[in-house]
Amino acid sequence: MSQTRINIALDGHSSAGKSTMAKTLAKELNFVYIDSGAMYRAATLFCMRERLIEGNELDMTRLRSAIDRMYIGFKYNASTETSDVHLGGLNVEKEIRSMSVAKKVSLVAAVPEVRHKLVILQQRMASPGGVVMDGRDIGTVVLPKAALKFFITADLEIRAKRRLMEIEADGMEATYQEVLANIQERDRLDSSRAVAPLRQAEDSIVLDNSNLTVEEQFDFLLSHARRVIAESQ
Ligand code: C5P
Repeated sequence: MSQTRINIALDGHSSAGKSTMAKTLAKELNFVYIDSGAMYRAATLFCMRERLIEGNELDMTRLRSAIDRMYIGFKYNASTETSDVHLGGLNVEKEIRSMSVAKKVSLVAAVPEVRHKLVILQQRMASPGGVVMDGRDIGTVVLPKAALKFFITADLEIRAKRRLMEIEADGMEATYQEVLANIQERDRLDSSRAVAPLRQAEDSIVLDNSNLTVEEQFDFLLSHARRVIAESQ
């Protein structure tokens, strides 16, 4: 019997390891992984390149007239076996992970017009089913009917240490204090914004991975996924 193509939502705090888990889960289930955070980061890079951001201010008038030129999508990268985010047809996967983008992304992600545009794309990508999508509002707004929803979190200091290791592994620079402050600030802004704030969907399964190995987390998620897939058949 062919496997039921359910959709799986993974939401949670910044740098809680959602994307690593979502990617591995998608691979194991032969599902498609969609990194919605990469789309908000690409939208931020667009605003930076268009010089729409001045300090903590976004020029909304100019953004409204530029937004139709903001083309964001994914293309499969055979060498990494995942999809890379593209802005205006160019691969920006590496650039969007920089601290300069991380510092502005919550500002851009709070704009209703940006969210509206990206949510439509996300829902379209998920419509055939068989998708694992991670973000902040996937279980609450993008895919409220997802068959399985997780909410992932971990202690702030642990998340900052893990994120710093990723940044350094990518050959970029940041200090521990800078990363910690950025994660804390993004959580604050993401949870307090008016549109689609970060919150736990009532029907989500919560996972605090502070003291879990990657394998333990993965086994937890996979066992729930297999159970829900079997129940959906
Ligand atoms: O997941 P990641 O940390 O790459 O997301 C970067 C930022 O994009 C978040 O801090 C948040 O401001 C925004 N985001 C969002 N909604 C999503 C995914 C990400 O607002 N579904």
